Amino acid sequence: MGTEQETKGAPASRSASDVGTPKRTKEIIAKYGFSFKKSLGQNFLIDRNVLNNIVAAAGLDETKGALEIGPGIGALTGRLAETAGRVTAIEIDQRLIPILTDIFAEEEHVTVIHGDVLKIDLPELFRKQFDGLAGVSVVANLPYYVTTPILMKLLEERLPLEHIVVMIQKEVAQRMAAKPGGKEYGSLSVAVQYYCVPELVCTVPHTVFIPQPNVDSAVIKLTLRDKPAVDVPDEAFFFRVVQASFAQRRKTLANNLTAFVGKERREALNELLTAIGIDPGRRGETLSLEEFALLSRSLRDAGLAS
Ligand code: SAM
Repeated sequence: MGTEQETKGAPASRSASDVGTPKRTKEIIAKYGFSFKKSLGQNFLIDRNVLNNIVAAAGLDETKGALEIGPGIGALTGRLAETAGRVTAIEIDQRLIPILTDIFAEEEHVTVIHGDVLKIDLPELFRKQFDGLAGVSVVANLPYYVTTPILMKLLEERLPLEHIVVMIQKEVAQRMAAKPGGKEYGSLSVAVQYYCVPELVCTVPHTVFIPQPNVDSAVIKLTLRDKPAVDVPDEAFFFRVVQASFAQRRKTLANNLTAFVGKERREALNELLTAIGIDPGRRGETLSLEEFALLSRSLRDAGLAS
């Protein structure tokens, strides 16, 4: 697959499952002369309890597979290898590949792939790595600089996933799980909840990472729905309507949507909103997924926007 390189082999030095401790992390960093790249969101986990909580939330067993994004030096990978039947980890930083190869040399069911998760053909990877398993989940301590693009890629590609259990920035986790009516509810909440049922697993202090990030973190579990939460004939249009409704949060729905449909259609828009039982003076952040679905269907049927 392009520049990707699959790795297995080379003699292991010590157990792969004890990587996520402060002592072992410091040893590995010193042994390989590794230096952290802030630009790649490299904050490695050094707390067994947090690692256990992440793995437990994913409900893995030997019949299931785990896809890890960004294994680092393998703190989470080691715990996943103890629990899942198959573990595939995608790491962008070439410098980490020989380290991971070394640490997981004796773990036949672990594969490390060098690549950028945003560029990898994930459906193809799933066919190659996870064929025949009872279920696959993404389990990761994500690089915070690309959390949303990574999650949206996983969701939009409709991968056959059971759960996505990820450590992310606390504020982003709260936005994903937010209910209508609050200031955290926005287009990210709608997008995530369209595909999944979100659940906040725990919040995590920055002291459990080396180096420590500047932000607080949380573990969120997203359980993929069998079918989207609402039925919309044109998904792309639905998401455009959602984006437009949140374009300027202080503005009313009618004002935000006028910018979307065009000023000359303002009156028709107000009539349509009233006819479907949505007060034009409401703000986007008060609309449920069902109301966004109704709104997008009605706008499309009325030909007010396309
Ligand atoms: N899983 C390890 C842990 O918990 O200790 C490391 C987590 S660290 C927050 C994020 C990891 O993602 C780093 O190893 C980084 O190099 C890797 N990474 C960053 N961007 C990536 C991308 N686009 N694709 C794959 N891996 C990426």
